[in-house]
Amino acid sequence: MAYRDRIEVSFDAGHRLLDYQGKCASPHGHTFRAEVIVEGSELNELGLLVDFGDIKRAMKEWIDRNWDHGFLVNSRDTAMLKALRSIPEAKVYCFEGINPSAEAMARQLACLASERFPGLRPTVRVWESNTQYAEYIPETPQ
Ligand SMILES: [Zn+2]
Repeated sequence: MAYRDRIEVSFDAGHRLLDYQGKCASPHGHTFRAEVIVEGSELNELGLLVDFGDIKRAMKEWIDRNWDHGFLVNSRDTAMLKALRSIPEAKVYCFEGINPSAEAMARQLACLASERFPGLRPTVRVWESNTQYAEYIPETPQ
């Protein structure tokens, strides 16, 4: 038996995919939606798996600080980094050696959620539009 709790945070950010053949190679932005789903079999003394407010606050605080109204960039994307660094107001978040895809974003948020809420196996979906999302599913413990 297991319980699942789900919270959602939306934010605006720009990105582009380095070496991609197609329109995602152009710098562009989305209103992203991140869904964080945690699961576990034990409830606390209040009858909660986790307080929705605690997980939502933790995720939103990190996203607001690092991604919201920022530009997500591959650390190997030297042209994009040079352009962004010429804009003093630009908020830039680097993904080390990987494109800032919805998949990479979902993995990043899942790592963050599992650090903050250990043992709750966070699954993260990052919606790039109303019709498509990428999901990161943690490995099942052996
Ligand atoms: Zn995109």
